[in-house]
Amino acid sequence: MKVVTTIAELKGIIKGAQEVGQSIGLVPTMGYLHEGHLTLASEARKENDIVIMSIFVNPTQFGPNEDFESYPRDLPRDTKLAESAGVDYIFAPAVEEMYPTDGGIYIRAGRQSQILCGASRPGHFDGVLQVVAKLFHLAQPTRAYFGQKDAQQVAIIQTMVRDYNFPLELRTVPIVREEDGLAKSSRNVYLTEQDRSEAPAIYAALQLAKDEMKETGNAEAAIEKARKSIETETSGRIDYLELLSYPDLAQVQENTTEVLLAVAVYIGKTRLIDNLMFSIKGE
Ligand code: AMP
Repeated sequence: MKVVTTIAELKGIIKGAQEVGQSIGLVPTMGYLHEGHLTLASEARKENDIVIMSIFVNPTQFGPNEDFESYPRDLPRDTKLAESAGVDYIFAPAVEEMYPTDGGIYIRAGRQSQILCGASRPGHFDGVLQVVAKLFHLAQPTRAYFGQKDAQQVAIIQTMVRDYNFPLELRTVPIVREEDGLAKSSRNVYLTEQDRSEAPAIYAALQLAKDEMKETGNAEAAIEKARKSIETETSGRIDYLELLSYPDLAQVQENTTEVLLAVAVYIGKTRLIDNLMFSIKGE
């Protein structure tokens, strides 16, 4: 496995792969790898001739008061883990390599970005699309892999790929969890012992709401049940807790079949997100 830091070198690798007809799997990450990321890499390994994992803490998707500076980084550790998951190349550019100039031209995420994480993180999804579009152009993947953990991100990237005709297939991988149900996240290292003991209550609350929804079809009651449970079981503050149609992320209607139950909770200083996707009709 090789760590590549320049666009020029990456371009050479892509050209070489394309000349011999190899398929390319791309796994975009911000590093500090855990089993969630490695599952994306393993999926990419199964389906492609070469696997490229990008490791880039993208400044343009962080707000001014967010954790860009303190976001955990450990490239030597990531390199070993990525290699064990079958990654061929890590693309780990410096910020100046990715954004040498600012010509003032940006991608703006649409309606799907105004809610959930987008409501409390203005501009976040614009930054995500900026870096993902660049990575798609640079790596020219046959397939790109994203986690359901960031369900809103997946929905927005799907829209960009569709509307701007990116010639690739998107693959979505289910959420990888700790044994107690907590969704794995690079930000889990921020949790204190007390925070960590409270955090599994988030997933448990989502399951309660899902059961309620399946039994009664009453979205408000389901949300209320989850809200109460999080408030009772944790000292956290709920940022949002919503049930929306998926992937359009709109109000649930009579004819809605697939739903996303999504939550963001501040446990201590750490903002944790989680979600469940399920169908509400035809089962
Ligand atoms: P990040 O490094 O947090 O930007 O995540 C990189 C990719 O890994 C994104 O597509 C995430 O959705 C995905 N990912 C992060 N955590 C998990 C998880 N627990 N299970 C599955 N995928 C994940």
